[in-house]
Amino acid sequence: MTCKVSEYMAHNPECVTCRYTYNCKGGCRAGGTLGGGDYLAPDMKACLYFKNGWFERFKAMGEKYAAQLS
Ligand code: SF4
Repeated sequence: MTCKVSEYMAHNPECVTCRYTYNCKGGCRAGGTLGGGDYLAPDMKACLYFKNGWFERFKAMGEKYAAQLS
């Protein structure tokens, strides 16, 4: 089985317009199946991670530690 990002995006217009689409791309395909078996469904764990601010928190932490190393 293969799944191209373009195939996934055609199936999920909400991901096309999502502000996190560049980083997330719908999350994990295995995670997408958890909502009912559709391997092209969005990964709800990825949505929770990105839309609840965790992406920004981890990005800020990475930038902070990178600055300390330089
Ligand atoms: S955060 Fe959710 S809506 Fe946005 S790209 Fe990821 S799976 Fe799609």
